[in-house]
Amino acid sequence: MLLHRLPVSNMGFSYLFGPVPSRRLGVSLGIDLVPLKTCSYNCVYCECGKTTDLKVERKEYFPTAEIILELDEYLSTRPNLDFITFAGSGEPTLHMGLGEIARHIRERYPEYRIALLTNGSLLPDPEVRREVADIHVVIPSLDAASERVFKKIDRPCASLSAAAIIDGLVALKQEHPGEVWLEIFVIPGVNDTDEELALLADAVRRIAPDLVQLNGLDRPGIADWVRAPTEAEMTRVRDRLGYPATEIVKSPTTRTDIPSFSQDTLESILLIIRRRPSTIEDLARICGLHPNEIRKYTDTLATEGLIAERFEERGVFYVSV
Ligand code: SF4
Repeated sequence: MLLHRLPVSNMGFSYLFGPVPSRRLGVSLGIDLVPLKTCSYNCVYCECGKTTDLKVERKEYFPTAEIILELDEYLSTRPNLDFITFAGSGEPTLHMGLGEIARHIRERYPEYRIALLTNGSLLPDPEVRREVADIHVVIPSLDAASERVFKKIDRPCASLSAAAIIDGLVALKQEHPGEVWLEIFVIPGVNDTDEELALLADAVRRIAPDLVQLNGLDRPGIADWVRAPTEAEMTRVRDRLGYPATEIVKSPTTRTDIPSFSQDTLESILLIIRRRPSTIEDLARICGLHPNEIRKYTDTLATEGLIAERFEERGVFYVSV
């Protein structure tokens, strides 16, 4: 059985998850538009594990009408949210119904702000840029400006190039009626060299986003040579970019003060890990929850010092402490 067909929250939805605490968007209801790890990249820092379906083909991976039905059911309770966010365990712009769903939210639920987390790889396509027009905040990532570093970090589909993606981001910012926040994932020793930062600074100036957010590893990725940048390393990157609207993303202070947090689920996950070290995917399968849901519990348990991370061949395992 595929993970996405299981209920992704305690409420039994298939395409919605959360609300989850987001480092950048507060309390955010997630919409996952593609099957687990269907993506145009296979990033070394991906928190969802290795990409199993690497592609740039756009199609209706799940029926758009079903996703809208779930949204209507959930939003009819008028939940208190900071954002409704297209995100999840793959690249949302691969779904051809993205524009229709965003338009539906804008028209029926004007009180909510909509965000899109995207790797930006499809934005060179004018049709994709048109589809994101109803989204308040588009947050594309750009981890490198040179082709060599782009391939090393993002491990993209062969047809993609950093130069074309940067051009797509420039066009997005010029056309988009909402905000564009550019995310740069900083990997010490890889994309923070003087040479790469000079290229990135030039790309950022051309794109002229409303905000640049510098992000770093918060949880383990899929390569053990990726480490979190120190504060001093982040500050250096910010200074080298020299772009006034740049912020360093900080971790949220709490993870338990959000509506969907369940103490029972927290305890069940701790029991499972005590019995057997498990990956996020293992826990998601056993609990019938979305991987992003599972993370808010593993983060809480790690903060409380009850579990720790261990790198193994199959990925990152959580072990009891
Ligand atoms: S673009 Fe996002 S979902 Fe795709 S591999 Fe990278 S981090 Fe994972």
